[in-house]
Amino acid sequence: MLVSNDTATYDYVIVGAGSAGCVLANRLSENGRYSVLLLEAGGSDNRFWIKVPLGYAFTFSDPALNWCYTTEADPGLNDREAYWPRGRVIGGSSSINAMAYLRGLPRDFDDWENAGAKGWNWKAVKSAYEEFETHSELDSDGNRSVRGDGPLWIWDSSDQMHPFSHRFLDAARDMGWPVSKNLNSDDYEGVTMLRSTVRDGRRWSSADAFLNPAKSRKNLHIISNALVERIELEGKKATGVSYSVGGKKIAARAMREVIVSGGAINSPQLLQLSGIGPAKLLKQHGIEVNLDHPKVGQGLQDHLGVSHLYRSSVPTANAILGNQFGRLRAGIQYLLTRKGPLSVPINQCSGLVRTDKKLKDPDLQIYCNPASYGRNKNGKTVVDRESGFVLCFQPCRPTSRGSINITSADPRQKPEIQPNSLSTKEDKETVIRGGHILKALAETPAIRDVTKERLSPDITSMSGDEMLENFKANAETVFHPCGTCQMGNDRKNSVVDARLRVHGISGLRVVDASVFPNITSGNTNAPSIMVGWKASEMILEDAAGKP
Ligand SMILES: Cc1cc2nc3c(=O)[nH]c(=O)nc-3n(C[C@H](O)[C@H](O)[C@H](O)COP(=O)(O)OP(=O)(O)OC[C@H]3O[C@@H](n4cnc5c(N)ncnc54)[C@H](O)[C@@H]3O)c2cc1C
Repeated sequence: MLVSNDTATYDYVIVGAGSAGCVLANRLSENGRYSVLLLEAGGSDNRFWIKVPLGYAFTFSDPALNWCYTTEADPGLNDREAYWPRGRVIGGSSSINAMAYLRGLPRDFDDWENAGAKGWNWKAVKSAYEEFETHSELDSDGNRSVRGDGPLWIWDSSDQMHPFSHRFLDAARDMGWPVSKNLNSDDYEGVTMLRSTVRDGRRWSSADAFLNPAKSRKNLHIISNALVERIELEGKKATGVSYSVGGKKIAARAMREVIVSGGAINSPQLLQLSGIGPAKLLKQHGIEVNLDHPKVGQGLQDHLGVSHLYRSSVPTANAILGNQFGRLRAGIQYLLTRKGPLSVPINQCSGLVRTDKKLKDPDLQIYCNPASYGRNKNGKTVVDRESGFVLCFQPCRPTSRGSINITSADPRQKPEIQPNSLSTKEDKETVIRGGHILKALAETPAIRDVTKERLSPDITSMSGDEMLENFKANAETVFHPCGTCQMGNDRKNSVVDARLRVHGISGLRVVDASVFPNITSGNTNAPSIMVGWKASEMILEDAAGKP
């Protein structure tokens, strides 16, 4: 243990300045009563390509900002290894994500409560969303209005989207799907122009929304490039952390709590490194077992999506972004006005739909992007020269479960990620139903009229079994890992309780996407921020002696 008499002491030590960690740092330091240390393994987010919405393509594989994980060979995906980016920078994954903002479906959170996460039902989380969101919306005449007064801006960028995106809404009408104004409302089924965490043409990460307004507070100390290597424990109580900055080992003591917000890969890794995890795994790596916690790192869930590319007979965003002159023009427009193609994320149109009318809730997310692109062998995004577009589908609530396990007692060694995709019959069936939906979408008059060529593999000529085989061969993560330190009733079925306290260890919480009992149906940034928001309330209540 590194703690000595001159060890810096704080009320709260937070590990990770990501989507959830930034919220905690703000709210726990807000009343000035508590001292807070925020430790982040990555560096500053003050970078051009983080701030520009379309810069996502550049941060995607930049090891200076990104943990750049690779999964194990995944049997359900033909033994393919997959690239899993995660943010390693102030703002965490909210600084490198694609900015799509979807709260999730009511049933997602009602299922959380049913799994033992008391107080996390839809009604409760909806009021949390309403507290921290501010929506900038456009009316049909293009006038902007603002709703809400929370720190997180959610932007309607439909005025800057490529006109081709309207085709997708026409195709949705052809399919008989509702065209929703905004899926972050009571109207949660249908297709819409996506809302994003953008403000006035710039990314609005969790750091922009929550950390920046708090960072000059005297009681908040932020240290970047600080890798937390271990949670320090005295018996069954967390007392602080040890971390390293530039090779120097440092200790920090937490008088009240250590809060782990390292994300769905790193949070279970840190618990395991600290002797809290499955005893057999810890012993295998020579780690002294503080508490045999069988579920730490288990229960990994993620969204998988498969993209289908089309050549278009009318111009799409490729006509601008697919050539140097167009990119230069878009760059100048952005620098002068913060508008144009660079000011909008590439995921422009999306929706939540049902693959079977008999289902009560949507079970499929559809994405329609007005550009076609791929990745070169270095992982860099390359936009096609010829106009094209992408149709993609992603099952909302996969039932397969994977795991995160340390591979060494060395905190610098990457953990083993086993997604265990498509390991249930239900997941395979949803993929086939989803394939049929995408096929029907590709055959709607609105899409057929602009389709010059269906690039291989063409879903419209596939049988159900071929759709499944194609999914296994080509599906990729949609970057939503969660559920590796789940909330629940006890240590047998979960890692933390409904107040996010680690079962069996005092003074220790986990607050990030790893606590989701089940993945939400849409993108996971909104619910990760919501977890940070509600957790900070609970922590402050507990500090004030309330239940
Ligand atoms: C490429 C990509 C695209 C995505 N697109 C979208 C999207 O469009 N919409 C959406 O809703 N979601 C999207 N997501 C997912 C979403 O961003 C995440 O679900 C969310 O950010 C998770 O938040 P978190 O707080 O759990 O973890 P993170 O935001 O990842 O934060 C964890 C932080 O902890 C730090 N950390 C970890 N371990 C340590 C340690 N030992 N010591 C110190 N610091 C540590 C990390 O560096 C990181 O900053 C995307 C994610 C990625 C990677």
